[in-house]
Amino acid sequence: MTKILHRQIHQQYPVAAGGDGPYVIDREGQRYLDASGGAAVSCLGHSHARVIEAIKGQLDKLAYAHTSFFTSEPSEELAEHLTSRAPGELNHVYFVSGGSEANETALKLARQYFVEAGQPRRSNFIARRQSYHGNTLGALSVGGNPGRRAVYDPILMKNVTHIGPCYAYRGQRNDEDEAAYGRRMADELEEAILATGPETVAAFICEPVVGATLGAVPAVRGYLQRVREICDRYGVLLILDEVMCGMGRTGTLFACEQDGVVPDLLTCAKGLGAGYQPIGAVLLSRRIFDTIAGGSGAFQHGFTYIGHATACAASLAVQRTIEEDGLLANVKSQGEALQQALKARFGNNPHVGDIRGRGLFRGIELVADRGTKEPFDPTLKLNARIKKEAMARGLMCYPGGGTVDGWRGDHILLAPPYILEEAH
Ligand code: PLP
Repeated sequence: MTKILHRQIHQQYPVAAGGDGPYVIDREGQRYLDASGGAAVSCLGHSHARVIEAIKGQLDKLAYAHTSFFTSEPSEELAEHLTSRAPGELNHVYFVSGGSEANETALKLARQYFVEAGQPRRSNFIARRQSYHGNTLGALSVGGNPGRRAVYDPILMKNVTHIGPCYAYRGQRNDEDEAAYGRRMADELEEAILATGPETVAAFICEPVVGATLGAVPAVRGYLQRVREICDRYGVLLILDEVMCGMGRTGTLFACEQDGVVPDLLTCAKGLGAGYQPIGAVLLSRRIFDTIAGGSGAFQHGFTYIGHATACAASLAVQRTIEEDGLLANVKSQGEALQQALKARFGNNPHVGDIRGRGLFRGIELVADRGTKEPFDPTLKLNARIKKEAMARGLMCYPGGGTVDGWRGDHILLAPPYILEEAH
């Protein structure tokens, strides 16, 4: 009997014992095509020789040294690699161990920035429903995934206002085009800022392409640009959560590049280390860095494992591989091919409402009735059943769903590795 408190206590999990490119292999030798990269993590597939070599090389030198005493070569090199490729003036980086920590850190950076900038009243956050930013209390507070929040609601931060997501499949009205829909949804942000009191709002956080909660839903064109303008008008910081959609997943290294928007803070994780080591990061603007550097000179934060040398060495190898092997081009072409293949195979299925996404980040929305978009009865527990049936057939996919604003969206998220070939 297992001693682990597993995610589903009564479920029997196969024992993962090996990896081979896009396949995970269990102890019995069964191969599973990792069509979701776990949860959009394993962007280089499994057992990648170059990354393993980099990890071993770092371990031979030094596994870890606490960042209150030292910096390290791999963390400095990784910081250089990321900031030199990031858009705008995202010139500095803070390394953590995952996505929740990255968002927790971004919220605190936003808060400390305003304290040091002489605007200490800015302590409120605005976020969106149908979003997921992590399971630590701060990240969960800004998150809008009802299932994950419900039990903890009484202990979450109360200084958060949630607005609607940009979800054209369900939200766009018949009498408006995409641009008008995007404007209407972005204007919800302005209304929320005005209702909260502009001088008290620290930041707005959102996922440029919504992952786990909606299933690869990009905002309509123009939405994020208007959001950026509104943030600037009221001096509110923009945090983009690219934990799932960043690091090449959508075909550009940073998802926001495709929207022509530069945030003040950008969080990433998952594809940053591709699962070879736990690592996440916050990229921050020159303005935030300079204000704190010229003020107290210290960020009031820190974890034991920030800037972990072995994790940074693994991540550096992952990022260099993505670049040197030209994998972003493959993400774009295989992503298009996947979209076409899904449409050809399922486009006319009466229970497939929408097939969407960018790059190798695709979502299939399942509905009881395609015409009315009526969702399936939640008691059917479609998500769990799809996952189980897929695993039984040697396929890993990442189904999700939830009810917000009367919408129940059941979806299947696909996020295969960037090394994908047509045969897979
Ligand atoms: N933000 C987004 C958009 C995510 O999809 C996730 C995880 O799925 C997180 C944050 C939390 O990341 P982690 O599970 O690494 O803490």
